[in-house]
Amino acid sequence: MSSLQAIVGDLNVITAAADVAPYLTDWRERYRGEARAVVKPGSTAEVAAVARVCAEHGVPIVPQGGNTSLCGGATPHADGDEIVMQLSRLNRVRDIDTENATMTVEAGVPLAAVQHAAAEAGLLFPLSLAAEGTCAIGGNLSTNAGGTAVLRYGNARDLVLGLEIVLADGRVWDGLRGLRKDNTGYDLKQLFLGSEGTLGIITAAVLKLFPRPRTSATAWVAVEGVAAAVRLLGVVHQALGDRLTGFELISADCVALTRAHFPALPDPLPGHEWYVLLQADDASANSPLLAQVESALSNCLSDELARDVVIAQSETQAADLWNLREHIPEAQKREGPNIKHDISVPVSRMTAFLSRSKDALDAELPGVRYVVFGHLGDGNLHYNLSAPAGSTGSTFLDQSSRANRIVYDLVASFGGSFSAEHGVGQMKRAEMERYKMPIELELMRRLKQALDPHGILNPGKVV
Ligand SMILES: Cc1cc2nc3c(=O)[nH]c(=O)nc-3n(C[C@H](O)[C@H](O)[C@H](O)COP(=O)(O)OP(=O)(O)OC[C@H]3O[C@@H](n4cnc5c(N)ncnc54)[C@H](O)[C@@H]3O)c2cc1C
Repeated sequence: MSSLQAIVGDLNVITAAADVAPYLTDWRERYRGEARAVVKPGSTAEVAAVARVCAEHGVPIVPQGGNTSLCGGATPHADGDEIVMQLSRLNRVRDIDTENATMTVEAGVPLAAVQHAAAEAGLLFPLSLAAEGTCAIGGNLSTNAGGTAVLRYGNARDLVLGLEIVLADGRVWDGLRGLRKDNTGYDLKQLFLGSEGTLGIITAAVLKLFPRPRTSATAWVAVEGVAAAVRLLGVVHQALGDRLTGFELISADCVALTRAHFPALPDPLPGHEWYVLLQADDASANSPLLAQVESALSNCLSDELARDVVIAQSETQAADLWNLREHIPEAQKREGPNIKHDISVPVSRMTAFLSRSKDALDAELPGVRYVVFGHLGDGNLHYNLSAPAGSTGSTFLDQSSRANRIVYDLVASFGGSFSAEHGVGQMKRAEMERYKMPIELELMRRLKQALDPHGILNPGKVV
């Protein structure tokens, strides 16, 4: 421990039980681990020096950003052998290059602060998700986070031009290039993006910035069902092109649950089964966007694709609608035990998937409550289940494996993914074995072996 203290300073090696506790459990409180210490390096050089010491002594490292992982990715194991490397002290925006439309940030900068710094420079960093006040950009890149603007801007991996990485042996790869074009061999940065801290430690990144929206439209649309929502997506996408930023599906049950825990949130169009929250943005201040959204949705009302529509009349109203959406995960957490699925299937197959899975789950878990919402525009839904009213939490959670098997087998049969956004962590390793092809697993293990031959980096996660 003294060699780590010599690198990062005594105050940044935390060992007291009460002080390490928050770093040893996950956001959902599903996992609780132990660790030799929580170590907080303050620079890339310190991360590298800590990694070298750990490599010399065979001590595994669990990198941790905002600790909002929903699959136990940043939580150490129970054996107490690892250190948690907490990266929040790497908190500088190193550079904003407005002409190149890029910014270079350190891994520990909270996502909301990255967005804010881009906005201050008159530009947009579009990654946006409900945990943005807490999660850190290094965690977002390590999980290839998605969020509410993927339809237009892509996942986190699409927003990165360069990375700085500390390797398992403590060497530093400075790949902080701000190039949109570079075909000099393998694109190494893509290996680390989405690798959940198992191949290298991200210490900094060059991020792409975009023109800031100057005209926006936010609409809340009541629809008859998921099939209507999918058709609405097609119509609105045709009408607005790539100005359609986000298209979220939300069930009436989600609205009721969220308002039960957060009564101040709005109930924009009560009395329907399903809703869509859509967002469109244009960089031009004089854009006819709002009129085009109104016209597209009015056509949808005439064609009975939409049953009712509210278009936000102010930024506050738009924020209220998004707040309703963003509070669903916290409301479900407060409601009690739940089984979460973060799945994707082709948009065209979503309706059939939802219908088949509901039939199967109703038969297997009578009374189960569905909390279904998410990024329909990306074919990705949070297909969550809550315990039947009155049932005890542990009884319900005991059925997780059966529920998962039903949902993931169906997802696989629809050509989908059992983890669209949140990653694998320690929660979904069995699913990796069941649903990934042997050749995919073999290639992943070979990469892991090549980059981390002694299994120092986040062992027991992903593969
Ligand atoms: C309320 C809520 C809403 C969410 N909504 C979304 C959503 O819409 N879309 C989505 O994709 N996710 C969502 N998530 C999941 C989570 O917020 C994201 O996965 C986020 O990107 C994780 O960032 P973090 O900084 O908290 O990472 P952590 O939880 O600290 O770590 C996540 C993983 O990355 C690794 N890691 C962290 N930092 C580094 C680093 N610098 N170098 C290498 N590895 C590292 C960890 O070891 C771990 O495996 C949500 C979570 C919550 C709680």
